[in-house]
Amino acid sequence: MAEGFSGKCLCGAVHYESSADPQFIGQCHCIDCRKTSGTDHATHIAIPEDAFTVTGTLKFFDHPANSGNIVGRGFCPECGAPIYSRNSAMKGLVFVRASSLDDLEIAKPQVIVFASRAPSWRHLDPELPAYAEMPEKMPKAVSKPASS
Ligand SMILES: [Zn+2]
Ligand SMILES: [Zn+2]
Repeated sequence: MAEGFSGKCLCGAVHYESSADPQFIGQCHCIDCRKTSGTDHATHIAIPEDAFTVTGTLKFFDHPANSGNIVGRGFCPECGAPIYSRNSAMKGLVFVRASSLDDLEIAKPQVIVFASRAPSWRHLDPELPAYAEMPEKMPKAVSKPASS
């Protein structure tokens, strides 16, 4: 299978390609992800910034995360669809929103973060490593679920 993937916003003004496969995929239940998702979490696909090409203009909303790091959330100013985010503490990586993908099948989460903020009705996959908040270091690549 060829490496890489693509995606776009709802109106099509913004589209992108990644020449790299996901490095890791995280399901985040933090409040900021919730507020920008339309539901109780967001799924992020981490890829190297230099493998990522965006066409179209994004608007960024910069907001401090729990950690104090600044997370810049890029969305289409026309239709409001979230596209990707950057984190001041994780330079060189971008975090693509699963909702923008052309093929959602590639976005199966490998890790759950801020699990402590998930609502009681959210079924969290017991096969996945889950962190109450954000772990110090995100796994580079999670090939199989870790046992906790
Ligand atoms: Zn759009
Ligand atoms: Zn989050």
